[in-house]
Amino acid sequence: MAEGYARRGERSQPTSPAEHLRGRRRDRRRRSGSRVPDGHRRRRPRSRVSDGHPRPRPLPRLPFPVAAPASADGAGSPDRAEQSWRKLAAGNERFVSGRQKHPHESLRWREKLVEGQKPFAAVLGCGDSRVPPELVFDEGLGDLFTVRAAGEVLDGSVVGSLEYAVEHLHVPLVVILGHESCGAVKAAIDLVNGTGHFTGDVSLLVRAIEPAVRATPADPDKARFLAACVAEQTRRTATLLVERSTIIREALQHGVKVVPASYELRTGRVTRLG
Ligand SMILES: [Zn+2]
Repeated sequence: MAEGYARRGERSQPTSPAEHLRGRRRDRRRRSGSRVPDGHRRRRPRSRVSDGHPRPRPLPRLPFPVAAPASADGAGSPDRAEQSWRKLAAGNERFVSGRQKHPHESLRWREKLVEGQKPFAAVLGCGDSRVPPELVFDEGLGDLFTVRAAGEVLDGSVVGSLEYAVEHLHVPLVVILGHESCGAVKAAIDLVNGTGHFTGDVSLLVRAIEPAVRATPADPDKARFLAACVAEQTRRTATLLVERSTIIREALQHGVKVVPASYELRTGRVTRLG
């Protein structure tokens, strides 16, 4: 470190009596507080938005604002995570019954989104072509921050993407969406049974699911065992995500939720698992 520079937080030593005196005056001003001529302590003006209401106070302790400012769709209320889940559940109900609205697909909406995105939930789903999150929840452009990886396997890119959604896009809800007859989970069962052989990075993927299969109680009914393994993998992914990510763990303390859920291929229904 160059001579003459104080470290951050360290006070530099005065080098002359005049400088020493200036330092003492400065310290007195700090102790008494900076005052304006009328004797009132100087206060920062309250920042206001254009409608004249004060801005919401930032949440304590978190290095980022998890609660986004209130908006027209009701975001910003105390229980944004449950509101987001109810919205997803309502969309899934429309999908199940075949009465989809197909919202947010218009040309006008698409152009509006050029300004930026504000998704109301993040979904980590399998890459399976039968389970596209926007379709099964009947949502449109800009509604969901979607990350997909076979078997919902976590790696650095997946975790980082979800952290981005929570930290920068302020989504209040992260859904881990497993599904019926997941090929990736089937492959992990084959691996455990010694009947599967996988090469390339597929082997890494399958090995990442293996602990979920080993943790699932044996069941002679193959379909039932697969369903139980899928549920275990989905719940386990939700737990691992929270364990692995400091950002998401801290966000949970401020109302963000990580919810495991499972999709049924035949009915199209998503069931919450936790
Ligand atoms: Zn799958």
